[in-house]
Amino acid sequence: MDVRAQIVMVFNLDKCIGCHTCSIACKNIWTDRKGAEYMWWNNVETKPGVGYPKHWENQERFKGGWVVDGKKLKLKAMGKGPTLANMFFQPNMPKIEDYYEPFDFDYGNLAGAKEGNDQPVAEAFSQISGKKIDEIQGGPNWDDDLSGSQLYAANDLNLQDKQVIDSYDTMFMQYLPRICNHCLNPACVASCPSRALYKRGEDGIVLVDQNVCKGWRFCTSACPYKKVYFNWNSGKAEKCIFCYPRTETGQCNACAHSCVGRIRFVGVLLYDADGVEAAALKKDDELVEAHRSLILDPNDPEVREGARKNGVSDQWLDAAVKSPVYTLVKEFKLALPLHPEFRTVPMAYYIPSLSPVLSTWGDTHKLLEHGMIPALETLRVPIGYLASLLSGGNHRLIEEVLKKLIALRVFMRGENLGLAADPAVLQEAGLDQSSVKRLYRLFTVAGYSERNVIPAQQREEQDPYQRKQEAGFGILKKTRGGK
Ligand code: SF4
Ligand code: SF4
Repeated sequence: MDVRAQIVMVFNLDKCIGCHTCSIACKNIWTDRKGAEYMWWNNVETKPGVGYPKHWENQERFKGGWVVDGKKLKLKAMGKGPTLANMFFQPNMPKIEDYYEPFDFDYGNLAGAKEGNDQPVAEAFSQISGKKIDEIQGGPNWDDDLSGSQLYAANDLNLQDKQVIDSYDTMFMQYLPRICNHCLNPACVASCPSRALYKRGEDGIVLVDQNVCKGWRFCTSACPYKKVYFNWNSGKAEKCIFCYPRTETGQCNACAHSCVGRIRFVGVLLYDADGVEAAALKKDDELVEAHRSLILDPNDPEVREGARKNGVSDQWLDAAVKSPVYTLVKEFKLALPLHPEFRTVPMAYYIPSLSPVLSTWGDTHKLLEHGMIPALETLRVPIGYLASLLSGGNHRLIEEVLKKLIALRVFMRGENLGLAADPAVLQEAGLDQSSVKRLYRLFTVAGYSERNVIPAQQREEQDPYQRKQEAGFGILKKTRGGK
């Protein structure tokens, strides 16, 4: 057992209101500069939809992530052969039109235009070429709130049953905020011939060393989430850094801090790095349970001892015990990884959406159970859709999560309205009264310090042994450089 610590974010999709405050907070701090205009390290997509960059989930086109080759994992796009050939050209990388041509407006013209017959306007211009853009063709959230549109929703790969967008009464939408997942088996790190990308030993954050990056862009192609970007000005790769200058001082990420819906939780997980490869080799619908089995109990003395041997401090172990992320991912099994079938073992987790609860009120009154709460099978967001996004197609896992969320609402609604709450509702979902109250608190009134349990660290004082491990541990030892 090789016990490692990983800092992790959980998103509660039920509560995201699609306000993009998180994206703007991130943009203002990290990507508001030349060459990074089109980059959104944090973005929020409307689902069903094609996302940003467009169609990023389509690995037949972009060839990101890993595939199982016999008993081994192989980067989908790379072997030894194409590596040399691709040094100067990445055929599978998204093009600027797959993102969007970044633009700004010439506001100076509003006050500075020469006198004429027409009202002066602020015309759009490209932030790359500086040329005027007559008609803007796209943006980072171009299909925002347009899930009903055949143009966008119909192209969502997760939407197997196209009928759900054929009529208004079956239509649904939700938001999907995305950052780099700081994966345990990061395809970006494994693909880099210059070894510029690395996974930090002390907190698992995946970074690009700007002094080492040669701009080959293998990482941009290899990341199936398309969360590594190429800075056209510096010629280097860039990506979400999980706000490490903030987390190192115990503050939560800018996106989580600014989140209006308070949908995000940040905390520490302990995991067994020796088991990552075997977990990533499982069949698609077994991957989530394999991910869960990697996560270790921070109260277990053997795990704590193993963690200490690898330089994990007591402060981090205490944070792992109090971690809201452990509660949601492992203890209650409510949060699931995004597209586990890409096999990067992502470390951002999502609680599937249950909303909109009242959408079935009108015509399916008879299907309602427990008063106002709809039965599982009548929920508007199809289980197959959520399974495609979050469980490698495993419907049972989605149903288990939704059952718990429904039970929580039913029980707390009963309690808050002074109605007799039926304990059987909880039992059926595998919950009890005290656990449901803990979860209710986390989802509703929990303050900053309960939602974010982030231990500070002094990197300069890290054990040199541990820092050496950044060269690669677990499966990365074998896969770095595609070898
Ligand atoms: S999501 Fe995973 S593969 Fe993609 S950049 Fe982040 S760590 Fe790398
Ligand atoms: S700030 Fe929070 S609620 Fe708003 S879009 Fe971002 S994740 Fe969703």
